[in-house]
Amino acid sequence: MIEKVPLFIEGKFCQSQSDEWVDVTNPATNEVIAHLPCALISEIDQAIASAKATFEKWKTVPVPERARLMLSYQQLLKAHHDELACLLSSETGKILADAKGDVWRGIEVVEQAANIASLMMGETTENVATNIDTYSLIQPLGVCSGITPFNFPAMIPLWMFPLAIAAGNTFVLKPSDQVPLTSVRLAELFEQAGAPPGVLQVVHGRKAQVDHLLEHPDIRTVSFVGSVPVARYIYQTGTHNLKRVQAFAGAKNHLVVMPDANKEQVINNLVGASVGAAGQRCMAISVAVFVDGAKAWIPELKEAMAAMKPGGWDEEDAAYGPLISAEAKTRVLRLIQEGKAQGAVCELDGSECTVKDYPNGNWVGPTLFSGVTPEMSIYREEIFGPVLVCVEAGSLEEAIALINNNPYGNGTSIFTANGAAARKFQHEIQVGQVGINVPIPVPLPFFSFTGWRGSFYGDLHAYGKQAVRFYTETKTVTARWFDDDIPKGPNLTINMD
Ligand code: NAD
Repeated sequence: MIEKVPLFIEGKFCQSQSDEWVDVTNPATNEVIAHLPCALISEIDQAIASAKATFEKWKTVPVPERARLMLSYQQLLKAHHDELACLLSSETGKILADAKGDVWRGIEVVEQAANIASLMMGETTENVATNIDTYSLIQPLGVCSGITPFNFPAMIPLWMFPLAIAAGNTFVLKPSDQVPLTSVRLAELFEQAGAPPGVLQVVHGRKAQVDHLLEHPDIRTVSFVGSVPVARYIYQTGTHNLKRVQAFAGAKNHLVVMPDANKEQVINNLVGASVGAAGQRCMAISVAVFVDGAKAWIPELKEAMAAMKPGGWDEEDAAYGPLISAEAKTRVLRLIQEGKAQGAVCELDGSECTVKDYPNGNWVGPTLFSGVTPEMSIYREEIFGPVLVCVEAGSLEEAIALINNNPYGNGTSIFTANGAAARKFQHEIQVGQVGINVPIPVPLPFFSFTGWRGSFYGDLHAYGKQAVRFYTETKTVTARWFDDDIPKGPNLTINMD
């Protein structure tokens, strides 16, 4: 019996009445593991109406009580860490250790949400004029929404709803249609942690369901993470409908290798950051930029990459799992073919990859190209597979110019032993998250996830202080209390003192 994925509306799990269902598959076998409803518009309306009604009560709940809900949730998520990771692995194919990291990064945001009281403090200035004080209040907005991608089924939903709800909002989540099961479990645990009915709703579907969220007048904010074309569409449509939108998009992340870097560290970090999670991370390193003599290390890099074998999520020696879908594999194979046809040197070709016991999985082996130039499609497009392309630069200045000319700006890294080179790189690079001898510089939740340029549309980023500002409004109060010094007569001018 194949599971039907439930909706979560008004605090209850329920079956959709939709006629339109899509298959959720195990990417290691392509067997169907669940059926997902494309929710009816009336069901989405019901979820939004419930969230709207609940907001009126939830916004008055004292901040420490909202924070305590997050503490209980954090405890429960930790208690279910392994179980969540297994579920996440079964729908993404991600190897277990990596799935645990995905859940853990989400738990850390819940920990941040438990600090909501200090994050929602306003500011005060006394005596802005004689006997007048001004202070600001941070207030929730109403119904917020989130639309999430397949590649981090725990972390990315947890980037969104815990902080929004801790700030006093209610939330409608539309998880990825490819990996909905982890989100449903996260909602179950949230309810068990004591979340009042209606604070969080989960609806399912694709474009039509997302469009309804983008159009609905009671949705105040849209948080999106996913591919570039959809991020642009969400940002344009959501803002056109006068909503506050943050849209995190795809990437092409470069790692600059200076000739003075530690060779062993460079090779280990390039391998892990390019093929880890089968390259399906928005912060994966997909371009290695070898400055000057560092390109001599490519043969050793190739050897290290070739040792990485994909496999089933519960196999101890598997380095990474399958691609999420047969379509994703077709796209990656197409790009590998284009790389060869456009004149890059395919040092290591993972196109013909098989994995014992999993003849039907979406496998791609580690793939390495050298001699890549910026016009080639393997350089221009986000491949989102275990494929690393190597380009060469004559100097650090050339490497910086190359990266700054690329349309994306999610993450980048430099490996060097030279502090002045690292300082120049961090200062001049037009990328929002920079690593110095750190390949995937994802900030912890007391900072924010700050992609730039074509990797992000909006201004306030995910988690940390910026997310609290995204999910709240600032009200500024100017107050005077009359005593015996009451001014006489009306004041018809702007006060200058
Ligand atoms: P996707 O854009 O296909 O899907 C993301 C979400 O949008 C899903 O919930 C999906 O159901 C919905 N959706 C898909 N097509 C839609 C449409 N036409 N209209 C409205 N909604 C639609 O992305 P994905 O393949 O699930 O995720 C991978 C992508 O996400 C990669 O490009 C990756 O770089 C990016 N990503 C970015 C970040 C970041 O922080 N910048 C983080 C993770 C993933």
